[in-house]
Amino acid sequence: MSFFDKLKEYKRTLAEIENSVYGNKQDYLEIYERNLELEKEIAARTQELNIANKRMLTLQHIWEMMNSSRPLESVLETIVNSLQGELGYLHSTILRKQTDERGDFMSVIAEADNSVIKRVNSIIEIPMQMRRLNYFKDGFYAEALNEKKIVTVKNIAEALRGIIPDLPDELFKKVMSGMRSKLLIVIPLYTRNKPFGLFCVFSSRDELADSETDFLTIFAQQIEMAITIADLFQAVREQAITDGLTGLYNRRYFEEYISKEVTRSLRQNQPFSVIGIDLDFLKKINDKYGHAYGDMAIKTVADVLKTNARSIDVAARMGGEEFNILLPGIDSKGASTAAERIRKAIEEKELDTIGHITASIGVATFLEHSDNLEDLLELTDQAMYQSKRTGRNRVTVAKPVSETSWQEVAVNTFLDILSRHNVPVETNLLDDLTGKLTTIKEQAEMPKEILYSVADMLIKSYNPLHEAGVVKSKVLLASSLAKRFDLPKEEIDRLKIAILLYDIGNLMLPKELLQKASPLTEDERKHIQEHPIIAARDILKPISYIQDIIPIVEHHHENWDGSGYPGKISKDEIPLTSQIILIVDAYFALTEHRPYRAKLSPVEALIEIKKDTGKKWSEALVQEFVTLIGHDLT
Ligand code: GH3
Ligand code: MG
Repeated sequence: MSFFDKLKEYKRTLAEIENSVYGNKQDYLEIYERNLELEKEIAARTQELNIANKRMLTLQHIWEMMNSSRPLESVLETIVNSLQGELGYLHSTILRKQTDERGDFMSVIAEADNSVIKRVNSIIEIPMQMRRLNYFKDGFYAEALNEKKIVTVKNIAEALRGIIPDLPDELFKKVMSGMRSKLLIVIPLYTRNKPFGLFCVFSSRDELADSETDFLTIFAQQIEMAITIADLFQAVREQAITDGLTGLYNRRYFEEYISKEVTRSLRQNQPFSVIGIDLDFLKKINDKYGHAYGDMAIKTVADVLKTNARSIDVAARMGGEEFNILLPGIDSKGASTAAERIRKAIEEKELDTIGHITASIGVATFLEHSDNLEDLLELTDQAMYQSKRTGRNRVTVAKPVSETSWQEVAVNTFLDILSRHNVPVETNLLDDLTGKLTTIKEQAEMPKEILYSVADMLIKSYNPLHEAGVVKSKVLLASSLAKRFDLPKEEIDRLKIAILLYDIGNLMLPKELLQKASPLTEDERKHIQEHPIIAARDILKPISYIQDIIPIVEHHHENWDGSGYPGKISKDEIPLTSQIILIVDAYFALTEHRPYRAKLSPVEALIEIKKDTGKKWSEALVQEFVTLIGHDLT
């Protein structure tokens, strides 16, 4: 090998070595870089996992809190507090954007608990959480929310001034003098794609790192999730049908069920009953033994209801210490038996420490007491209160709504008439009657007797011969007669009120005329006939709610053959209720003592009445009337 060749050989080997060294270096570099990337990726994955893990834990925490029905505010507070320490933030708060009639504003719904906010609150006197914070439309709060992006603010003073512009300058200076925050990070919060508010974080660093942005975004997502979950829980709670303490149905379910039951009941013409139960003296139990024992008493009642209810009954806790049971298909008789069984079962329970408890019960039946749901529940309630008033631990069955309502109308009418100055009633009597009527009004169940006696006393003021008790007899007789003609309940109610009022116009007549012993002259007779009806119309006209009574009163002197007054109408033109008043009034006039003639016996009166058949009243009316009185006579 020549030297030249050798040199060539060396050169080649050198190049080879050189190549291989270079190649190895490349390999090493590649491996090194790949390792670095892997490491980075692992780190990222770890972080992701960590975050996911943390989120899971937070979620679990949230769910637990939700289940114990803690309010959203307390959940959010836990979240913002958990931010403290992490990455060294100074303070964080969640603001909710709201709108009212004064416009947009923000309020603090959660705030981390730390020395920063404590110091600020102590200076600004009214704490941030209680303030209506200004939401300035062009500011960075609006920018973050509207543009759905994170906004950083270095001017902390401006950020604070913007939301509490009305804070006095010296206080504001004091707040700012101790401020360590260098950066405010405003993160928008959206729930179900709707702007909710802002998550505000105060940082001691003056720049926001990329990693921080990710971190805070994840944090904001947790807040959004908590709000969404809270909303869902609220919706679920609203949809729930049972009461937590007792396991009975709740009010919402009861109300839904009963309105369906009304439809069913009307369609099938089948009654249903409601039993209303209120625990007696629960407040005393709470005060004496504590709330837990009060709860125990409530649960005891609930247990009794569960044991006693049939499978189709709906037993519900309406709230507090109030329960209702709906009994489909059961009339008031059956319901009152069931109620009595429940009352007894409650009374017999022996409770730890408390001993025995009792409940007051009311019963009302649909189609029997009322065919209106609202009235039915009102009647149940009234009956229950009646039980309370009359000594508790008892069952009261409601009175039909019609019986109470006509009396109410009558009482109000009398009060309205008496409060008018143009109706001449002596002051003493006026005070007496007004007092009586007011007493009636104050009682849940109107005592009819007082109402009748008021009517009697008022009539006696213009007719001294009027006997007490006659009004009541007239009402009973007239309504019995009306029932024989199958008049609807409402019409009979109107008739009852008309009986109390039809002679009210006499109040306006000169007394001498009314009490005259000798027969009246033609002029006097006309005056005494026509005038009271005109007067009655004048008295009743202004009372809006009895307009349908006026025609009954107005025509109660019309005769069957058209010879009466004031309309001279005849036969079926005359309201049947007016006809009934005419015959009832005639009967009582005949059997009462009058200055100009002796009083007749019932039989004699009937004979007189029969004489006017076809003239004053119809054959049919007389027949029914005679049968009715005849029943009473035998
Ligand atoms: P009354 O016999 O007149 O009904 O007297 P009462 O004390 O039972 O009735 P009142 O309406 O005066 O008071 C009801 C009390 O029941 C007041 C309230 O604090 C208490 N209460 C309401 N709900 C609950 C509850 O869920 N648990 C407990 N322990 N008490 C309750
Ligand atoms: Mg009670």
